[in-house]
Amino acid sequence: MSAQNDYSFFQSVEKSFDKAAKFTKWDPGILEQIKACNSVYQMRFPVKRDNGSIEVIEAYRVQHSQHKSPCKGGIRFSDEVNQDEVMALASLMTYKCAIVNVPFGGAKGGIKINPHKYSVYELEKITRRYTSELVKKNFIGPGIDVPAPDYGTGEKEMAWIVDTYASLKPGDIDAAGCVTGKPITQGGVRGRKEATGMGVFFGIREVCNMPDVMAKQGLTTGVEGKTVVVQGLGNVGYHSAKFFRENGAKVIAIAEHNGAIYNLAGLNEEEVFQHKLKTGNVLNFPGATNFNKTTDALEFECDILIPAALENVINAGNAARVKAKIIGEAANGPCTPEADEIFAQKGILCVPDMYLNAGGVTVSYFEWLKNLSHVRYGRMEKRFTENMNTRILTQIEELSGKQVNETERKLIMHGADEHDLVHSGLEETMINATREIVEVWKSNPAIPDMRTAAYVSAINKVATSYAELGIFP
Ligand code: NAD
Repeated sequence: MSAQNDYSFFQSVEKSFDKAAKFTKWDPGILEQIKACNSVYQMRFPVKRDNGSIEVIEAYRVQHSQHKSPCKGGIRFSDEVNQDEVMALASLMTYKCAIVNVPFGGAKGGIKINPHKYSVYELEKITRRYTSELVKKNFIGPGIDVPAPDYGTGEKEMAWIVDTYASLKPGDIDAAGCVTGKPITQGGVRGRKEATGMGVFFGIREVCNMPDVMAKQGLTTGVEGKTVVVQGLGNVGYHSAKFFRENGAKVIAIAEHNGAIYNLAGLNEEEVFQHKLKTGNVLNFPGATNFNKTTDALEFECDILIPAALENVINAGNAARVKAKIIGEAANGPCTPEADEIFAQKGILCVPDMYLNAGGVTVSYFEWLKNLSHVRYGRMEKRFTENMNTRILTQIEELSGKQVNETERKLIMHGADEHDLVHSGLEETMINATREIVEVWKSNPAIPDMRTAAYVSAINKVATSYAELGIFP
């Protein structure tokens, strides 16, 4: 149970599901099947600590749905991990993948440890042992279940996982596809680091390009000139701020865990980040004013508020004071259901996390495809495209008698490399997902908010896929 609610995290996901299911036409049996977690693997294994003691580790892997294979979802290392949380996160992965048309079922894993309390050698032993437990029960593999990083894990752990898997499956030519979020040298893909923040930007930009949606918020279309507040200058917050600023929006406030600042003339996230690295804090950044409390930034007047740090930061206690016209949920679960109700009354548009922060899983999908095809994106066509573009440009210049300048020449001739293709695939994905959700929302005026519309979209896709499999004739 959470401190504020008398229902668990998994039950709260079920509540959101039920709220949306009312707007679908599916048989209750199908809905019941979609909601259920198909496989829950709870394990215990011993690990010898550096001091010679033996510790029994508690860990989980939950596969929520196999309506598409493989399943996909991160592995978190946290002493808060429990079965209910892993089940809730696994279900959210099913809906998230469905919304962005990534053909995976949802899964999630967790190891109940505080990674800061273990040496790197101990963490390696725990990660490798966890992987071998998954292999023993057939809970991991490029066609079965593909983990990724999550809270407390990163490239290092993914490298240990792929190495352990490959050594237990000699000759499996697709072994690199057993996990995503790997270092580039171990089969990772370029563009993963910025993917979530970039996806947040693409999603919000698409919403801002919809004249009717903007008119309802009392805003003009487009991102240019809009004011943005970002909470959390970590991976997601930093990259969200970067893409908004580079595309003409003004980031007027940034909040970190130990301080928050504003400057109506605009802040440069890289300069603020460097200041934070040097001083340990964003406070006293030259030209900016300090907020009294970090949470004041959430209540600052702006067009777009991007909470990119923690869950539950906008809740029954402060939602009424939020002045933003659009909230882009970059973090997982930054707004509570009680806050959603207040937004509905105030006419604030909340763009939901389940799809807005799906850039990470989308690019993970691209990494998995790269691993299965055994070739870097762009390798086959980059040079060919450049040669072709050169020929076309030369012909145009000869026929017109005019020459393009050097900068334009480079842009026109450039053949796509891995970064370009990953970014463009992500842009396509986020634009399509936004349009699909808004279509669903518009199709039924009774659907109260965009979060519910996103669930309806996900339920329809998963249910269709079950129906097409003939499971529910
Ligand atoms: P991160 O650890 O890189 O960054 C989080 C930042 O928030 C840190 O700089 C931290 O100091 C700051 N912070 C912590 N408490 C704060 C507070 N009270 N007020 C203001 N700032 C605070 O993490 P991240 O990868 O950027 O993830 C951020 C959120 O986005 C999480 O909810 C995560 O689950 C979600 N998310 C991340 C990804 C991804 O690809 N990294 C994908 C999907 C969702």
